[in-house]
Amino acid sequence: EAKKTKGGSLQFYEESMGVEVEEQLMLENDIHSAIRNDEFVMYYQPQLDVESNEIIGAEALIRWNHPQKGFVMPDAFIPLAEESGIIIKLEEWIFDRIFSDIRSMIRKMGRFPLKHVSINISTVHFLEPRFVEKLMMAVKKHDVKPEWFELEITESGIMRNIDDAIRKIRELKSFGFTFSIDDFGTGHSSLSHLKELPVDVIKIDQSFVRDMNDDDEMIIEAVVAIGQKFNLEVLAEGVESSEILAYLQDIHCNTYQGFLAYTAVDLEVFEALLDAKK
Ligand code: C2E
Ligand code: MG
Ligand code: MG
Ligand code: MG
Repeated sequence: EAKKTKGGSLQFYEESMGVEVEEQLMLENDIHSAIRNDEFVMYYQPQLDVESNEIIGAEALIRWNHPQKGFVMPDAFIPLAEESGIIIKLEEWIFDRIFSDIRSMIRKMGRFPLKHVSINISTVHFLEPRFVEKLMMAVKKHDVKPEWFELEITESGIMRNIDDAIRKIRELKSFGFTFSIDDFGTGHSSLSHLKELPVDVIKIDQSFVRDMNDDDEMIIEAVVAIGQKFNLEVLAEGVESSEILAYLQDIHCNTYQGFLAYTAVDLEVFEALLDAKK
């Protein structure tokens, strides 16, 4: 697993160092100081209704404004942060920042202007014993409503401890959070788990959507049918062309994200965007 990530997405930390342990120590120190120096920033990618093309939500996505490396994307540090466990500290910062961003947005707009903001949750963090307690502490601190947030979890992670996951999903749903399954179709889990998981939204992974071929079409249609059957919203990720959007309209996929509509933008641009739509 570590090897795979190393070859794949960790170009950022592999160039100058040979040893993995060393890399992780470096990254841990870097993340601690990056939090202190305010180098991380949350971006927001709009989510739209397929039918009306209205913005209904946004996914919060982290970026690292690194003083030497420049603008670093999450695939270059999130997997390593998960391996070392530092992701738990980082996500505490992420909750804090998203909640204060949303508070400032409400101050300006007078109300919460969306259905929800989606937050990516690392399974490493989610399966930690104090996850629910810490999340609710952040909610209270910023005086936000759980109803405003959708928590994105991944199938593959959840399967490591499905009982614990189900218990936490139920508890957080009772407080008002909603849940989506991210990267759907890419994990190792079986469809039979889906009916056990009390989630609200299935996010079809962008690998099926971006350069859609006939096989992908069949998979997308199957997921949309499953969504209808189980009464779940289906969101397609990675919509880059109007042809694919038209196709999603035809098959009654519910919502989408993608560069066709918007990339992820900083809070200021996102607020301006919502303001222009009012
Ligand atoms: P994800 O949760 O599946 O997020 C969707 C990724 O697809 C984002 O990449 C987004 O910018 C990208 N994307 C959206 N629409 C399109 C499109 O039309 N075309 C293409 N080519 N890409 C599109 P990003 O921001 O680089 O994030 C990558 C992954 O890093 C995320 O995948 C998520 O797993 C992780 N991540 C990002 N932010 C966070 C965070 O705050 N916490 C945690 N735990 N993970 C995060
Ligand atoms: Mg996501
Ligand atoms: Mg995804
Ligand atoms: Mg992904």
